[in-house]
Amino acid sequence: MPAEMTRDGWISAHPYLHPLADVDALVGRATAGTPVPAVALPAWDAYAADYFAGVPLLHSAKAAIDLTEPQRAVEALIKTLSSSSAAGPIGEQCRALAAELPIDDPSQSPHFGLFRYLLWAVLARSLDPVVRAFDAWRNEERWLHNYCPTCGEPPAMAQLIGTDPGRMRKLSCGCCRTRWQYRRTGCPFCDGEDQQRLTAVTVEGEGGLRIDYCESCSGYLKTYDGEGHEHLMLADWTSLHLDFVARDRGLKRLAASLYDLGG
Ligand SMILES: [Zn+2]
Ligand SMILES: [Zn+2]
Repeated sequence: MPAEMTRDGWISAHPYLHPLADVDALVGRATAGTPVPAVALPAWDAYAADYFAGVPLLHSAKAAIDLTEPQRAVEALIKTLSSSSAAGPIGEQCRALAAELPIDDPSQSPHFGLFRYLLWAVLARSLDPVVRAFDAWRNEERWLHNYCPTCGEPPAMAQLIGTDPGRMRKLSCGCCRTRWQYRRTGCPFCDGEDQQRLTAVTVEGEGGLRIDYCESCSGYLKTYDGEGHEHLMLADWTSLHLDFVARDRGLKRLAASLYDLGG
């Protein structure tokens, strides 16, 4: 494995990612230090009709996945982070968020972005066994939607896998970390309209990452053309510099993101 494909190697090659890497590591440590509530697997047969109708797993009353416990666990995580010695804006924001507990309506919080990021840090861990079982159960050809089959969010990124004739594209969820199959070409943001092809911008020395954009809607999707380093290359924050490259070209981030690019 080339050195630049490890987390440390990648960050030292992209030093401006240090602040994000620190936040990711801090939240990762705090999440690992709090209990992960288990989420029971759904009865797949009961959910099947909803799946064929395009209803994401977490939105299905038939699947009835109970997220009460992980949602409660995010409050424990906020408390852990606020009592840690975390400095800088993240520490301050965690302490401000902790002062709001219990939070009845997170969308009204001035720190909703941070809340959502922390919520998904907990949910992604709790849902990991569900996401794996769902991967094994579902028939990808029966989905092919432009939103996540697990949580319903738009994709954060995409991945190109394999070689022709079996080459395919997967979309990647930045929230629950599901990856699902989508049309090989075509813009996921103009979904259902004409089959707009995407134009690829490759960036030298970026480990197979490129920017695929649509001339019709100006939306772009960061795409990892490779396999084996999904954890690093599809993490979204590890390629935030490509969002700035895209923005400088006048492209719009229509993909979902847990990271605010700021002004
Ligand atoms: Zn998802
Ligand atoms: Zn488009």
